[in-house]
Amino acid sequence: MKINTSKLKDQYVTLVMSRDRRIQVKLDDEGVVVDFLDADDEVIDSTWKTYQEMIDGDELEDEETKPEPTITEIDGRYMCQACGYEWSATLGDNEIPEICDCQK
Ligand SMILES: [Zn+2]
Repeated sequence: MKINTSKLKDQYVTLVMSRDRRIQVKLDDEGVVVDFLDADDEVIDSTWKTYQEMIDGDELEDEETKPEPTITEIDGRYMCQACGYEWSATLGDNEIPEICDCQK
């Protein structure tokens, strides 16, 4: 996951702790960078985390790869438009799957 930082007006948040100690948070293209700086802008310590790590990757992927339902009801019979499989008309609505086996 990336953001377009060129669209940002400002990508820094700075906390001035003392005359020679600052913490600077930068929103970078792929994540957040935190720098601990001295008076000469030398990095004393630094850490970072990607946006990808901050979101639940698995959940997002499930959302994107969820197949479109292909099962439609015609005259009380449920049929998959993709593979042509037809479920028995005697099955109840709760016995018809949302997603056909051919889409899994
Ligand atoms: Zn099918």
